[in-house]
Amino acid sequence: MECISVFDMLKIGVGPSSSHTLGPWRAAERWIKELKANNTFDKVESIHVDLYGSLSLTGKGHATDYAVMLGLCGSDPETIPTETIPTIISNIKSTNTLVLNNERALPFNPETDIVFNRKFLPFHSNGMIFTALIDGKKKKSTFYSIGGGFVVKEERTNHKRNFEIKCSFPYPIDKGTELLQFCNDLGLPISQVVLENEKSIREEEEIDKELQRIWDTMLECMYIGCHTEGNLPGGLNVRRRAYDMNQNLKGNTPYSNPVEWIYSIRNTEVKFRQIIKWVSCFALAVNEVNASLGRVVTAPTNGSAGVIPSVLMYYLVIENHDGNFEDIKKFLLVAGEIGSIFKKGATISAAMGGCQAEIGVSSAMAAGALTELLGGTPEQVLIAAEIAMEHHLGLTCDPIGGLVQIPCIERNAMGAIKAINAAELALDTDPKNVKVPLDKVVATMWETAKDMNSKYKETSEGGLAVGVNMADC
Ligand code: SF4
Repeated sequence: MECISVFDMLKIGVGPSSSHTLGPWRAAERWIKELKANNTFDKVESIHVDLYGSLSLTGKGHATDYAVMLGLCGSDPETIPTETIPTIISNIKSTNTLVLNNERALPFNPETDIVFNRKFLPFHSNGMIFTALIDGKKKKSTFYSIGGGFVVKEERTNHKRNFEIKCSFPYPIDKGTELLQFCNDLGLPISQVVLENEKSIREEEEIDKELQRIWDTMLECMYIGCHTEGNLPGGLNVRRRAYDMNQNLKGNTPYSNPVEWIYSIRNTEVKFRQIIKWVSCFALAVNEVNASLGRVVTAPTNGSAGVIPSVLMYYLVIENHDGNFEDIKKFLLVAGEIGSIFKKGATISAAMGGCQAEIGVSSAMAAGALTELLGGTPEQVLIAAEIAMEHHLGLTCDPIGGLVQIPCIERNAMGAIKAINAAELALDTDPKNVKVPLDKVVATMWETAKDMNSKYKETSEGGLAVGVNMADC
């Protein structure tokens, strides 16, 4: 039994990818810590990084090289001012020098010291090896980015069992059935059971502070996306659409910050078609920010970061104008727990399971969380999560040009709408009539992931990635 906190599932970071950006960034940080722990940091003469498998095949489009350099420089993805990233990278490129952990200037040519190797390491498709020259000898250290910003060090045979700390939660949960049992035994909703677990590792005051910070980041991300015009970087010439949608949808109430924006939308008459447009607009906004290396919350990945904020925003601006922090808290706690059930029983890595592991999981997380806020029972929460995943099974990952733009950005809008639909279906479902429980769909997703051709696992070697020519974009 393993502990995965809600704060492991919802992490503040920088786009565009949790496995290809946040993971390698964290791996570089961990390597520096390793060098310091071995007392070799001060002896490093030069450094070199090899990227393997999916990290290599879609690494350029996913800014993996940038992430590695930023991690090696000692920048923190949670706090770095994202507007400084281009300058940091261009300084390294123009001087061929990298200041390791912001302490030691070393020769570093990104063109030759970060190598994109097409071959796959045996353990996981997102492998990377950091090499330091110390006393004339090469010392290597291997890391794997296994999705959602999680990084593992050692090569082991069971990828799902080797990274979390042993569980000390009072209510340890691997499966939906176990979660339901605790809810029934304790007479508590899912959010409360999850909260009790979180309280075993931090004070409730701190939990509230962190959840508020996560929501503030999500809200700001939607706000920035809805108020930024132009094309996205990367060469596909993808036009940002959230700006136009927000302009077309917004009413007459003026606003000048994210909170006023919420009140302004609440004051606007919203008809059925506009509801769908608003939800899509929120989701597009997040993933446009993500695609431009902006700050997002990994939920459970960066590529799928738009689903959860947009569904929560839907609740706050459409469903319940009195919605407050208590609702936000419940939503994020439930979403995090559902994500961890998928992580433990299957995967949240597109390199392991395609887009069902990203958009499918985020949609399931959002569907379950919305269901609790709409008054659903714990059984109905899990039914909603199951429905949302059931209709994402087999979804492939085939980003054009290796960029997290097409189909990724629109896919978040689709995942959000499906989440709302799944919640509504679940609320009208009698649990006695359920044929496919959540645990069954988790197991099915994992089997589907294992059967999926590697062309569709974040390699850009199949699907839209080869069916659409970048030059035509
Ligand atoms: S297609 Fe899906 S899984 Fe692949 S990069 Fe895009 S959002 Fe992520």
